[in-house]
Amino acid sequence: MLRVQNLEVVYDDVMLVLRGVSLAVPEGKIVALLGANGAGKTTLLRAVSGLLDVHDGAVTRGSVSLDDRPIHRLRPAAVVRRGISQVMEGRRTFAELTVEENLRLGAHTRRRGAAEAMERMYTLFPVLKQRRGSIAGYLSGGEQQMLAMGRALMSDPRYLLLDEPSLGLAPRMVEQVRDLIAEINRAGTAVLLVEQNATMALSVAEHGYVLENGKVVLDKPSAELLADDDIREFYLGSH
Ligand code: ATP
Repeated sequence: MLRVQNLEVVYDDVMLVLRGVSLAVPEGKIVALLGANGAGKTTLLRAVSGLLDVHDGAVTRGSVSLDDRPIHRLRPAAVVRRGISQVMEGRRTFAELTVEENLRLGAHTRRRGAAEAMERMYTLFPVLKQRRGSIAGYLSGGEQQMLAMGRALMSDPRYLLLDEPSLGLAPRMVEQVRDLIAEINRAGTAVLLVEQNATMALSVAEHGYVLENGKVVLDKPSAELLADDDIREFYLGSH
């Protein structure tokens, strides 16, 4: 179980961005983290993956733990080795490298099995196999999202953190990304899915949290969040 407990995060020593956030991602489940721009979703993912440091952020209270062991003081590579891998917002790939080179970089924390992992990625994302020799910067937005996901999956994570995978994608592509998330999860990987597209996220997640101003304001099964018209209107930006 991945658990965030009473987490407080500041940037630049003073700016309080997370104000006591608690959430849980059980093994093998998909959990959605929703909320408006600036609510603190990306910050929460950074706290889990060890990336706060590089953004001048720090945990000032609370904890992030995996199977009851704290991980919020670990460096990013150590977090990956524990089985948590993140796809950052904006699907950062190495634009000048090929698809295959990008995937290979995703395997840098593992000692063996990189070739098998690559074959699994090509089965999961056939388009990446077709384009294995292409320069990543020339891929479409959807293909780049798949490459970013594939790269994160190269370490065989137990937990995949996704930061707004649907951002900027055409509706058909959003559907495809959603189906891929479901497939990745069926293969056993738990997913913490940060999304502005609440309908998409809740259609695939079992449980949803809504973050507002650095606090969890809703914490409910997806079906309940989707069924409540007031919630949809006020928190999820849809009717
Ligand atoms: P978005 O969808 O825009 O990424 P978010 O919910 O992910 O929104 P965060 O990116 O976590 O929100 O940002 C939360 C707050 O922290 C915002 O007010 C943002 O301006 C601020 N913030 C984010 N990164 C930094 C940083 N490196 N230094 C200072 N403040 C930051």
